[in-house]
Amino acid sequence: MSLKSQLYWKSALLRSGFAPSRAMIYGSCAVGRRYVSETSAAKNTAAGAVPPVFDAQNRRLFPQLDQMQPPSSVAYLKTLSKKELLSLAVIGCVTINKLFLELAIKVFPFVPMFLVKWLISSLYCGGDNFAEVRECGRSLQKRGISNMMLSLTIEDAEGTKNIDINHIVDETIKSIHEVLKPNILAQLETATDVNDIAPGYIALKPSALVSNPGQALLHFKDKAWKSHRDQLVTNCSAITQVIYDLNQELLKKYPSRKTPFFVSTIDAEKYDLQKGGVYELQRLLFKKFNPKDSPIVSCIGTWQLYLTDSASELQAEYARAEEEGYKLGVKLVRGAYIHSEAKRDTIIQPTKEASDLNYNNVMTTVIENLLEKGSKSSYGHLVVASHNYHSQMLATNLLKKKGLQSGKSNVVLAQLLGMADNVTYDLIKNHDAKNIIKYVPWGPPLETKDYLLRRLQENGDAVRADNGLPLLKSILKSLFSSTTEAKNV
Ligand SMILES: Cc1cc2nc3c(=O)[nH]c(=O)nc-3n(C[C@H](O)[C@H](O)[C@H](O)COP(=O)(O)OP(=O)(O)OC[C@H]3O[C@@H](n4cnc5c(N)ncnc54)[C@H](O)[C@@H]3O)c2cc1C
Repeated sequence: MSLKSQLYWKSALLRSGFAPSRAMIYGSCAVGRRYVSETSAAKNTAAGAVPPVFDAQNRRLFPQLDQMQPPSSVAYLKTLSKKELLSLAVIGCVTINKLFLELAIKVFPFVPMFLVKWLISSLYCGGDNFAEVRECGRSLQKRGISNMMLSLTIEDAEGTKNIDINHIVDETIKSIHEVLKPNILAQLETATDVNDIAPGYIALKPSALVSNPGQALLHFKDKAWKSHRDQLVTNCSAITQVIYDLNQELLKKYPSRKTPFFVSTIDAEKYDLQKGGVYELQRLLFKKFNPKDSPIVSCIGTWQLYLTDSASELQAEYARAEEEGYKLGVKLVRGAYIHSEAKRDTIIQPTKEASDLNYNNVMTTVIENLLEKGSKSSYGHLVVASHNYHSQMLATNLLKKKGLQSGKSNVVLAQLLGMADNVTYDLIKNHDAKNIIKYVPWGPPLETKDYLLRRLQENGDAVRADNGLPLLKSILKSLFSSTTEAKNV
């Protein structure tokens, strides 16, 4: 790492109040000072202690953040139709306690497809054809969400389904032309500021784009697996090339645009696959599609901040990008595989609070760099992919501090379709966020059913906290208050 990069990271982290250890600056350890105990999450919760999730700098800048509660769902629920409220009430019932949730997870594969589609899919999935997904985009626009991160959900992480990978590539490219392009063009034509519209994203799951994905990613750098590596790079490049070409074309028409029109996004997989191949894959794509002199990037990768080495991984990538003359594109997530990572004790932060602190610190560093350096930043673009209200408010306040909540900042806030809608609603209505998108899975009904099941399994605790009894109470409140309002009209 060059001296310039070392100094940059050291001063950026110190500025954000995050005191890094020497090991961190030089790349062997992820987090320097911890503000939380290193006991297990369970022990922490039992103790009832709520350690701060913001570091000293952010607490000084935004003293109210530590105390802020996520907004109530009632205001958002009032905007929904009776049918949507009924679907949510069903979800509220099955997630009412851990026992019910576990039962729902077991029964879910046997629920008939028509019932899944009618009751649940429409809340969490964009549809199974382009017309339905375009319609989903239009209904999101009515809620103030200008764009989507599309994910064609045909997955084969275990390599057992024998799926047609060429079909995935073709359908994904078609979805750019048939959904994302008309969605953004219609808005650009009538926009007062072309930067008020967030980019349209394509999410690419590496394990869905190569045969024998587990082994192919683990052995990505082995000569013996070169044909698999080539297959994966070719597939991701084919999709990203379409995005790159469209970005260049639209930039000529809308030269005042500061952010990409379209972005290809590499999703993060389990730790071994990240280390084995996904980080390297992202790097190859950044080099090809995010040249330093281009005003906008076309590709972003993902870092999982629940990993103890995530900050140092990103730091090393930043240094490499600076030295080799390309831009990183960054999507920050906490990480989805906490329950299935084999080496959880060694690779994942010891507590939820440590994950939160790492997430907020790294996010602050990236945003401050983008705000300070603008188009000269080696971070080309950031997606804050989280349902966590505190993280989203921190990002929003950092942008507001510079008077920049629009797309000019190259910072976009993202949540999954159907999740944390109260947070999305609050950011739009009360904080004027225009830089906001939803991750929209779409595809064959059976595959989206698998996606829904995975969401329940991976995010079970969050689903239960967001839904269950609190959701049922909010639905009742929203029904009651809308009836009262109707009577008063
Ligand atoms: C747009 C979008 C794209 C996404 N893409 C990806 C992706 O490519 N790859 C991926 O892996 N995930 C992805 N996710 C999922 C994401 O990683 C999280 O699982 C999910 O969003 C929940 O985290 P949260 O930030 O919303 O916040 P919260 O609900 O505040 O945090 C929950 C998360 O905290 C962490 N956590 C919980 N308990 C502990 C503990 N005891 N110790 C340490 N950490 C703990 C876990 O990561 C858990 O998922 C994506 C999410 C979104 C919204």
